[in-house]
Amino acid sequence: MGLSSLVPTFLTLRQANGSPLPRVRLKQTDYQTFRSTCAMECLHCNLTAYVWKDRLMKIEATKGFNVKCCLRGISRTKWVYHPLRLTQPLLRTGEKGEGKFKPITWDAALDLIEKNIRETIATEGNKGLLLTAASGNMDSIKNDMAKAFFDYLGGSTKTAGSLCCAAVTAAMMPMVGLRYADTRDTIEDSRYILCWGE
Ligand code: SF4
Repeated sequence: MGLSSLVPTFLTLRQANGSPLPRVRLKQTDYQTFRSTCAMECLHCNLTAYVWKDRLMKIEATKGFNVKCCLRGISRTKWVYHPLRLTQPLLRTGEKGEGKFKPITWDAALDLIEKNIRETIATEGNKGLLLTAASGNMDSIKNDMAKAFFDYLGGSTKTAGSLCCAAVTAAMMPMVGLRYADTRDTIEDSRYILCWGE
């Protein structure tokens, strides 16, 4: 998907009264561009975001980087504005699983988190804090920032392995004797390829 696909772009945003905006032909110079990494899953794609009037219009792989971003990465133009996307903290008001929440401000949420962390350290010590993170949406950036933060507080309990890779390691070692035998270079040598997931 190239930059040429940006032009012409016809907008179908709606005005506050619900009526469609007049169709506008945009030029490339009308867009602001921002560089970002992809936080959807594997984190290796360098992406460029095209923004018009504070609205994300398009994502594509950054020119000059040897990346071919996938549909999941560039689909954030859809999920960023999805009506079901959480955009503010929710406080659980019922029992777990009841699905009862109320919206609270970021300040209220951060105050509550600080209070609970302080109380846990005071009553249980730092081992009472559990840091559990992995890759993908719980990505490396947040992961390392969280480790640095809790280490600054004096440490925390950490998990052994991660949600997904621990299972892969457990299966790969007895089957093929190697953890990282699943390289893209050897796919063409395979007799069978099994794909799963979304
Ligand atoms: S664009 Fe796709 S392949 Fe690239 S990091 Fe994001 S999810 Fe992974």
